[in-house]
Amino acid sequence: MKFTFVTLFKNLVNGYFSDSILSRAIEKNIINIEYLNPRDFSDNKHFKVDDTAVGGGAGMVMNPQPLYDCLDSLKKSDEDTHIIFLTPVAKQFTQRDAKRLAKKSHIAFVSGRYEGIDERVLEEYCDEVFSIGDYILTGGELPSLVICDSISRNVAGVLGNSDSLSVESFETPLLEAPSFSKPQNYKNNSVPKEYLKGNHSKIRSLKLALSECKTKFFRPEQLLKHKIASKMTNKGTQR
Ligand code: SAM
Repeated sequence: MKFTFVTLFKNLVNGYFSDSILSRAIEKNIINIEYLNPRDFSDNKHFKVDDTAVGGGAGMVMNPQPLYDCLDSLKKSDEDTHIIFLTPVAKQFTQRDAKRLAKKSHIAFVSGRYEGIDERVLEEYCDEVFSIGDYILTGGELPSLVICDSISRNVAGVLGNSDSLSVESFETPLLEAPSFSKPQNYKNNSVPKEYLKGNHSKIRSLKLALSECKTKFFRPEQLLKHKIASKMTNKGTQR
């Protein structure tokens, strides 16, 4: 799978791929990363990419011309590229989006800077828009990386053990049960005793109970969804 980062600041992005899981996925050619800088497409003699806002307003806005030419060249090289713009006003990215987008062959992330991008660029090229939360960042590079990372974990072969995906939080309404590592007793604080006895059915029941507690504490609205889903399943099996 290929990801193209359309950004004025490649160096803010590329360090993230230099280590750990995603760097191994790149080595194995499971994912490919490419960068396009709108400045390289500017027809301004000083390679300018922004200007003051028409109609007034604070700050600079990214001009259409460099982005039109940059995204035209991207589309020309691969017309199946799915183009995502990052903007704080869009719907928030979710795990469901990550799984859906992991099936695409090529995704491009367009990062805004300054006060954002001339709206005409989005109207012309945007396949989808995402926010990563209700707060304002200085640019779209971090949101692009967040979304790219989350999609990549769902691409076959990226994670060493893909079983871990199916038990993670947000796969079902219940959050994942608390995890513990070794030693079993650390500074007089032991892991739940049931985890140590090797009775897998009891461990499963305890994990389910702990998942429910965790969901009730952190995300009560999700627990309600879980209860409704369980009721529906029970009704279905009783029929
Ligand atoms: N003036 C814009 C507004 O009020 O909606 C904010 C522009 S922001 C300073 C510059 C760029 O950062 C945006 O064009 C977008 O690409 C990115 N950005 C900032 N916060 C974001 C968020 N929460 N989610 C996604 N992208 C964000």
